[in-house]
Amino acid sequence: MSQQEDSFKKLVSHCKEYGFVFQSSEVYDGLAAVYDYGPYGVELKNNIKQYWWQSMVKMHENIVGLDAAIFMHPKTWKASGHIDAFNDPMIDNKSSNKRYRADQLVEEYVEKKVMKKAKKEIEKARKRFGDDFDEEQYKATNPRVMGYLEKSKTILTRLNTSLTNEDLEDVKALIEELEIACPESGSRDWTDVRQFNLMFNTQLGTIAGEAGKLYLRPETAQGIFVNFLNVQKTTRQKIPFGIAQIGKAFRNEIVARQFIFRMREFEQMEMQFFVRPGEQQKWYAYWKEARMKWHQAIHPAEKLQYHDHEKLAHYADAALDIEFEFPFGFRELEGIHSRTDFDLSSHQELSGRKLQYFDSELGESYVPYVVETSIGCDRMFLATMANALMDEVVPDADGKDSTRTVLKVHPALAPVKCAVLPLLKNKPELTAKAREVFNDLKFSFNCQYDEKDAIGRRYRRQDAIGTPYCVTIDFDTLEDNTVTLRDRDTLEQVRVSIGEVAAMVSEKVSMRTLLV
Ligand code: ATP
Repeated sequence: MSQQEDSFKKLVSHCKEYGFVFQSSEVYDGLAAVYDYGPYGVELKNNIKQYWWQSMVKMHENIVGLDAAIFMHPKTWKASGHIDAFNDPMIDNKSSNKRYRADQLVEEYVEKKVMKKAKKEIEKARKRFGDDFDEEQYKATNPRVMGYLEKSKTILTRLNTSLTNEDLEDVKALIEELEIACPESGSRDWTDVRQFNLMFNTQLGTIAGEAGKLYLRPETAQGIFVNFLNVQKTTRQKIPFGIAQIGKAFRNEIVARQFIFRMREFEQMEMQFFVRPGEQQKWYAYWKEARMKWHQAIHPAEKLQYHDHEKLAHYADAALDIEFEFPFGFRELEGIHSRTDFDLSSHQELSGRKLQYFDSELGESYVPYVVETSIGCDRMFLATMANALMDEVVPDADGKDSTRTVLKVHPALAPVKCAVLPLLKNKPELTAKAREVFNDLKFSFNCQYDEKDAIGRRYRRQDAIGTPYCVTIDFDTLEDNTVTLRDRDTLEQVRVSIGEVAAMVSEKVSMRTLLV
C-alpha cells in the first residue's frame, strides 16, 4: 500500500472511531456512497458552513441568503437542461458486471499510465539538477517527457471532442485502443457506452404517471434562479448582488468512491452573483481570487491550485475548478462558473414570466448574467480533515518520546473549543470546581467536560478530535482560582486565572481571524 493510500485509510477509520463520519445504515451493511455525520462531524461541518456563510453573507452587504426547497416544479429541470443533458457516459464490464464512468476510465489511464511516468522523469531530473532545475524548460525539451505530455494531450482532446459531439462509439473505441481493462476483473470485455441521467426521481402521490414525476435537486442553484426576482424585490438589492444558499443535493453517481468525496446525497454551498451583461469576466476574476483566499486561510497554498475547464458546460462562457490535494491527488473542491444568462433566460422562456432586472442607472431592463461559486461542503470537510490529521512525536508526561494523533484543525472550525478536566476523578472538590468552570464556559463556546481516565489519556483524546484548548483544574485551583490552559499545537501550558479563560479562548477560536 502506498503512503497516500495508507494515510487515506487512516483518515477514514479515524473519522469513524472518533465520531466524525459513519456509513449510512451500517447495521444493514451500509448504503453505498451515503454517509452520516457523527457528534464531532456535525460540529465541524456546521463550523465550515458558518465560515462560508459569514464570509459570503455577513461580510458582503450585497449578498443575501436563501433556503429553497429540495423539490421544485419538474419544469425547472427541463429549463436548466438537467433532464436532457445531466448525463454521464457509463460502460459496464461484462465479466465483473461492474459499472464505470467511461470518461473516468480514460482519465485514470492518462493519470496512471502516462502522466505518472512523466512526473517520475521530472522528479528524477529535479534531484539530479538540484536548485538549477527549471521544470518548464525540462518539459519543453526532454524528448521522453514531451512524448508523455503529447500522448496525454492527444487522448484527452479526443475524449473531450467525442463527449462534446456525443460520439459515444468513439469513446468506446478509445477505451479499446488504449486496452483499458476492468480494475476488478482485468477483463476487456466491455458493453457499449451509454448516457446515464444522474437525477434521482420520485412520484407525487396525487398525480399518476409522467406528470407527477418529481426530481430530487441535483444542485441548489436552480432554487436561487427561480427566486431571483422575489429576493431582489424584497431586499431592494441593486446589481451586482448575490444570493447564497447551503443545502442538500442528490446525484445518482455511477461510481461513487473515495469516501465522502463523491456521494449520492451531499451538501452544496452555492452563491449566484448577478451582474450586468458584459461585466461577467470582471466578476469571474474577482470571485476566482476571493474564493482562493478563503481556502488559503484554512489550507496551505501549495495544496491548492486552479484548473481551467477545457470542455465548457452548455451554459458557461468560462469555468474553472479550485482543486485541493486530497490523499488521492489533486481533485475538484469548488467550481467557479460564468453561467451567462442561460438559466434565467431558460426559466423566463419556459415559465412565460419575465425574469428581468430594471437597471435605473442604465435606464433599461435586461436578464442579468451570473457568476457562480459552488463548493461541496462534504469535500471541504474531507479536505479539512485530510490537511489537519497527523501523527506527531511529542514528549509524554515522563519526558519520553511518544506518538500522538492530533487533528490540527483551525481553532475556529474545531468541533470542541475547550475541554474542562479535573486532574483527578475521585476528588469531589476538584470535580465540583471543574463543573462550575464548565457550566460558565459553555455559554461562550462549545465545551466538553471529561473526568474519565488519566489526564494524559484525556489530553490525547482531545488532540484526536482537534480541541485547541484544555483547562485543567488541580489542587492549586482551589487555593488561588487559577487553572492550566494547554495549547493543542504547542503543548504549552500556562497558568491563568479562571476569569481570564473565556476571553482568551474566545479570541483564539473566533472566526474573525479567518474573515479579515
Ligand atoms: P465532479 O466533476 O467531481 O463530478 P462536478 O463538476 O459535477 O464535480 P459541480 O456540479 O460543479 O461538480 O458541483 C459543485 C461542487 O459540488 C463540486 O465542486 C463538489 O465540491 C461538489 N460535488 C459535486 N458532486 C458531488 C458529489 N457526488 N459528492 C460530494 N460533493 C459533490
